[in-house]
Amino acid sequence: MKKCYRAELTGVFGIPVDDNPTGVVEEAAYKEEGLNYRYLTIEVKPEDLSIAMDSVKAFGMKGINLTMPHKVTVVPLLDELSEAAGIIGAVNTVVNRDGKLFGENTDGKGFVRALEDSGESIEGKTITILGAGGAARAIAVECALNHAKKLCIVNRNPERGKELVQILITKAGVLSEYIPWDKNLPIPQETQILINATSIGFSPNIKDRPDIDYRTVTSSMVVCDVVFSPADTEFLKAARAQGAKTVNGLGMLASQAALNFTLWTGKKAPLELMKKVLAEETA
Ligand code: NDP
Repeated sequence: MKKCYRAELTGVFGIPVDDNPTGVVEEAAYKEEGLNYRYLTIEVKPEDLSIAMDSVKAFGMKGINLTMPHKVTVVPLLDELSEAAGIIGAVNTVVNRDGKLFGENTDGKGFVRALEDSGESIEGKTITILGAGGAARAIAVECALNHAKKLCIVNRNPERGKELVQILITKAGVLSEYIPWDKNLPIPQETQILINATSIGFSPNIKDRPDIDYRTVTSSMVVCDVVFSPADTEFLKAARAQGAKTVNGLGMLASQAALNFTLWTGKKAPLELMKKVLAEETA
């Protein structure tokens, strides 16, 4: 067979990116599947993003991830957006389709996939989300597109919380309500899925947990955290003590990496391997 020394290129643009572990996970998956692909972790300054995106085309790269601070500013540089990316107004994965750049947001899709893998579904559910930042927006929009019955958005900054509710009602057509984050917040009784989509509890602040009344978390709720380091947060531990089923943030992160893998290679991803590598990298 004729040898090919040229690798297919993927990667991430961001700043800072030095501590982003995605490359290790994607490259382990490429190796497992026998693909001559590389994942490059590249520091790109905001003023260089346009030329960097041109280089995705010039180098014939299969695609690229975007992380802070490029997720929103990349949007005008793309040719097409997925429905979710269009509603969220942010892109974390670009696919180069024959020179046309397609923008997707796999943050929320990774969450939905991880929840489904745990045996739960979104359809018809009343979901309470703590937070209204990038991760919360992506998760909320994806829950709406997956036919959630109602979304309750709790956020410390009321403007940000209300803005997300407006997006959900007007652009995603889902019943949605803003709840101010008062001290020791009681979780609405109608909640079936409760999600911490804030950064509270992320390493090194591993003893922190969202200020909610944990006595209002019930055993009929599924409680999820986006924080993945540590995987088992104080929030999840407290929810389990109330009898709730819990789903941690590692599955969401690994599922995103798996979705990227499939978008770029067209192949099913070795998800279990990716979860294992990610857990080792973030331990
Ligand atoms: P943003 O900065 O966009 O949003 C942060 C959110 O957390 C805001 O809603 C903010 O509220 C809230 N928040 C932060 N500190 C507090 C506090 N002390 N009390 C109340 N609310 C607080 O960050 P992202 O949405 O991008 O990321 C959030 C978390 O999600 C991070 O830990 C990130 O690592 C994780 N993440 C996990 C992923 C996964 O795959 N598991 C994927 C993406 C992100 P306010 O608006 O009031 O400031």
